[in-house]
Amino acid sequence: MSQTIPAHGGTLIDAFVPSAERADAASRAASLPKIELNRRQISDLELIAIGAASPLNGFVGHDDYVGIVDKMHLANGLAWSIPLTLAVDAATASSLSAGKEVALTDEGGAILATLTVSDTYAYNKEHEAQQVYRTTDGAHPGVAAVYAQPDTLVGGSVKVISLPAHEEFPEYYLTPSQTREAFAERNWKTVVGFQTRNPVHRAHEYLQKCALEMVDGLLLHPLVGETKGDDIPADVRMKCYKVLLDNYYPLNRTLLSVNPAAMRYAGPREAIFHALIRKNYGCTHFIVGRDHAGVGTYYGTYDAQIIFNEFAPGELGIVPLMFEHSFWCKKCEGMASSKSCPHGPDDRISLSGTKVRDMLRAGEVPPMEFTRPEVAEVLIASMRQ
Ligand code: ADP
Repeated sequence: MSQTIPAHGGTLIDAFVPSAERADAASRAASLPKIELNRRQISDLELIAIGAASPLNGFVGHDDYVGIVDKMHLANGLAWSIPLTLAVDAATASSLSAGKEVALTDEGGAILATLTVSDTYAYNKEHEAQQVYRTTDGAHPGVAAVYAQPDTLVGGSVKVISLPAHEEFPEYYLTPSQTREAFAERNWKTVVGFQTRNPVHRAHEYLQKCALEMVDGLLLHPLVGETKGDDIPADVRMKCYKVLLDNYYPLNRTLLSVNPAAMRYAGPREAIFHALIRKNYGCTHFIVGRDHAGVGTYYGTYDAQIIFNEFAPGELGIVPLMFEHSFWCKKCEGMASSKSCPHGPDDRISLSGTKVRDMLRAGEVPPMEFTRPEVAEVLIASMRQ
């Protein structure tokens, strides 16, 4: 099917129960002990189900967990940077043993999947925080989520019966096999993936278009799982992406689809995770700009690029395209970075996120050198609601 690259580990995982067997699986699961998943765990379950987290076919067991946290590799030696874990309280953990089946439910009790337990194990939250997030500060949103979890992890493969429906923009939830099919239909041999949790600004557009000069297609792949409360909601962002693509992008070279993952704000480790996920979606290249997946001041501007040096050449199987901090330069009269522009900070249009938010809230369109007016209009309209 795919003309681009194999999934991570060689096989695209499909963890769904075959449709003909789902009704039976659901009625059998109804009598199993239940573990309720939160929003992030449901996002992880979806990544696993559709193969976006290949080669993972479930929540990680002890050996993979230790390998990922300490060495960024699974127990079988494959690169992986963020553990997808399922934490349970002590009472639940003590009722579980290897080989036992449990049902995974959403917060309303609806059955989503069954999990066959491989093992249960204790873990050190501070150690995970330090290794994966490079900080033990509970104010970091990713670290806070780890600290809020119960104290025992349960590993095991999953069989997914049904995922919660996507009420908003369901047509944009292409699975990795669907994006691979779309790339093949368009005859794209090389595809660059772009991760974002923001509206697309001129700097993003510049990165994407620079990359598009080198590859056949662009997968604009916004993350729409759980994000911090002050990030712009996914439905508003989707409107921004659509208006931008319609007006400024070659539609035969661009595909908009969403990544259901939750945001962890793990900076460098998440850049690797984001790249591997996009590899599973069939991307051959992945854009990593400044402070990728960062939050606050926890990471250096280019830490998320430097981390790629910790892997052997070709090991990840997807080519990172690194970009310096980009901006509009008044003297160059165009987008540039310090790699391509000799002028100083005074010639650059640089606006803080806070300043832009204030302008939008006041109904003011930020300069076109920062954001396309069509995008600004969508954002202003959303703030008026
Ligand atoms: P995320 O937090 O997921 O990285 P963003 O939407 O902030 O999401 O950024 C998307 C991508 O664009 C990331 O790779 C980021 O490094 C890059 N990026 C954002 N702004 C700039 C910029 N001004 N210059 C260079 N790269 C940028």
